[in-house]
Amino acid sequence: MRDFSYSRATTLAEALSQHQASAEAAYLAGGTTLIDLVKLDVMQPARMGDIHRLGLTAIEKLPDGRWRIGSMVRNSDLAWHAEMRREFPVLSEALLSGASAQLRNMATTGGNIMQRTRCPYFRDTFWPCNKRQPGSGCAALDGYNRSHAVLGVSDACIATHPSDMCVAFAVLDAELTLQGPGGERTLPFRDFHLLPGTTPEKEHALAPGEIITAATVSPLPAGTRSCYVKLRDRQSYEFALASAAVVLHVAGGKIDEARVALGGVATKPWRVPAAEAVLRGAAPEEGVFRRAADTALQGAQPRVYNAFKIELARRAVARALATAATGQPA
Ligand SMILES: Cc1cc2nc3c(=O)[nH]c(=O)nc-3n(C[C@H](O)[C@H](O)[C@H](O)COP(=O)(O)OP(=O)(O)OC[C@H]3O[C@@H](n4cnc5c(N)ncnc54)[C@H](O)[C@@H]3O)c2cc1C
Ligand code: SF4
Repeated sequence: MRDFSYSRATTLAEALSQHQASAEAAYLAGGTTLIDLVKLDVMQPARMGDIHRLGLTAIEKLPDGRWRIGSMVRNSDLAWHAEMRREFPVLSEALLSGASAQLRNMATTGGNIMQRTRCPYFRDTFWPCNKRQPGSGCAALDGYNRSHAVLGVSDACIATHPSDMCVAFAVLDAELTLQGPGGERTLPFRDFHLLPGTTPEKEHALAPGEIITAATVSPLPAGTRSCYVKLRDRQSYEFALASAAVVLHVAGGKIDEARVALGGVATKPWRVPAAEAVLRGAAPEEGVFRRAADTALQGAQPRVYNAFKIELARRAVARALATAATGQPA
């Protein structure tokens, strides 16, 4: 493990200037990803900037009805916030399906968005990994790729984005607020994570020195139903093999609004507009849900060990839609 310097900021300006002081700096939030990866020598920041004292812990309703979630809000506080649970149950369900109670008590909103892949070859420095060491190759392509992605993949990297919360943010059309040396800017959540392409080491749209300060979600129309379904090897303390977050509004026997996002099968939180188009204007029926699920997985590119994820993800989508539509599992 490489030596690093530690600093603790009490204001945003201080955090940003400490970060500027080193090109190899990392913000320390809950530490549940970062500390593991530093110990494994996968991440080697020269400077660690502790952001616990910045505040950024508020969950507040804005005058226009949107909700602003500070980036240091703990996953457990967000999951159990009474009004957020009522307005955005899909977000709470996704958060509570992740990790363990102890981890959720430490993990933060910003850290969850920025968490790194769980690809075992990325986490073990013995193996070649383009994400960890650009140009070194990808051990997963012809390795044991059971947990890897089938959507958004490239010849350079097939690692999944591991977050549950981010799948809910994708389906809720969240927006991120970023603060950097040049001031504040906002970015649609869907544009934050990047596809691996030929540069899998570039995972997000944060500019050097920028920090995530908040995520904002807009209210859903009255009567909107939602659901998060997560399928995994065991029922708790496990990442998704496939997951689906859906938002559905039915009026006059027809679906007039539908949103679908996938987790566990793609290289970034994965919205599926084509599946949403299948649903809009159709009756909320099992056949329609299955067609939408098939559409969601069109173009999937499996490797030797992960083809099973395609059917698993289809079932997650169909089940999430049926649950949202009826309140009853399919
Ligand atoms: C055993 C285990 C099981 C898990 N299971 C799941 C699961 O099932 N589902 C799931 O979704 N997650 C799971 N996780 C991951 C967990 O949710 C993340 O580790 C956590 O959300 C990261 O948040 P953190 O605050 O601890 O981030 P940290 O570890 O502090 O930081 C993570 C990264 O984000 C950067 N960062 C942090 N905050 C900011 C910010 N505000 N702006 C810019 N950069 C920032 C850091 O520099 C670092 O690179 C699991 C983790 C473990 C260890
Ligand atoms: S899939 Fe991506 S993270 Fe995993 S070994 Fe290949 S390049 Fe590295």
